[in-house]
Amino acid sequence: MKYVVILGDGMADEPIESLGFKTPLDVAHKPTIDRLARLGEVGLVNTIPEGMKPGSDTANLSVIGYDPKIYYTGRSPLEAVSMGIEMLDDDICYRCNIIAISEDEIAYEDKTVIDHSADEISTKEAGVLLEAIQEAFGNAYKTFYPGVSYRHALIWKKGSVDVNLVPPHDILERRIGDYIPTGDHAEEIYDMMKTSYEILNHHPINEDRRRRGLRPANSIWIWGEGKKPILTSFEEKFGKKGVMVSAVDLLKGIAISAGMRSVDVVGATGNMHTNYEGKVEAVLQALADDCDFAYIHLEAPDECGHRGETDNKVISIEQLDDRVVKLMEIGLKSLGEPYRIMILPDHPTPINYRTHTSTPVPYIIYDSTDDTRGSGVGYSEKLAESTGVYKGVGHDLMKQFLQVD
Ligand SMILES: [Zn+2]
Repeated sequence: MKYVVILGDGMADEPIESLGFKTPLDVAHKPTIDRLARLGEVGLVNTIPEGMKPGSDTANLSVIGYDPKIYYTGRSPLEAVSMGIEMLDDDICYRCNIIAISEDEIAYEDKTVIDHSADEISTKEAGVLLEAIQEAFGNAYKTFYPGVSYRHALIWKKGSVDVNLVPPHDILERRIGDYIPTGDHAEEIYDMMKTSYEILNHHPINEDRRRRGLRPANSIWIWGEGKKPILTSFEEKFGKKGVMVSAVDLLKGIAISAGMRSVDVVGATGNMHTNYEGKVEAVLQALADDCDFAYIHLEAPDECGHRGETDNKVISIEQLDDRVVKLMEIGLKSLGEPYRIMILPDHPTPINYRTHTSTPVPYIIYDSTDDTRGSGVGYSEKLAESTGVYKGVGHDLMKQFLQVD
């Protein structure tokens, strides 16, 4: 048996006025997903344990079968693993975004966060900017490491996790001064963010971006603090050799920490213009080689949710259907072995709020050898609720999917 999880990040939503009070999953044309739902088990699963924040970090840990209450040590350390950074036990890792903030001639705290990704800045440009940041703030205790696009890391020796930092994608178009860090090292962290504007706003890279009609990537934003992660091996836990195919460091880091293989796919971007076919191909290749389990992660619906782009969110779900699920099914059939497919988001990213929520998400488990338990319904939040199937403990769903005790 081959097992494939297809994860549409942030895909679940709530009724939206401009869609006639339907959700993107309701209105998206997704014939393959709907057919697998009708023939498979459909229900709701709670991926965010009570009291925890609904992040892609905690939610994906649940989906992969790890109790976030036990295994979660922060988001950025998982990304750091993927970036090849060796953390020591007393290192604290923070995410360092390169973002775009408003350019008005007003105090830093009165500016607003425009884009947490600085127009999805290229890795090359961001690397140069991060070098300037390292030069300004790096020392024996603090080191900035360049990552992909706007996602970078800060390792702080003897840093602290007792600090309140806000993810920049949660405060788009809001005033910075309302989200000033509090707690350990808060002043130093805020000071670096504030000073970074002076370093970056007129940096040659940003003058060049302006000439090309792009927003300047004119501030850093520090958040996502955490300690070195320790996950038990996926293979030991579930008896399956696994592979991860994702464009984002968080998912790759979870995979590497869990001893799974992580495959880099050329042109995998984490947005709507990603190399969907290449990612499917990578999964099928790994399954044909020696893997029993694959996790393919698509970030696009989440990005659309944060940006408040309703139409694009619908399109990203249609692309997931047509360019991932459909191809995956064809490919799995041609491998000639029975297979199970699980389709779900990690958490909702409702267009109305432009941030994550903790609401249980709809899932499908389809088994190519057993269509007797067919739900008879398609795939949406409401249809999943209508089946009455509810899994309250998210990390237990993986055991059910993999048919292990
Ligand atoms: Zn998100």
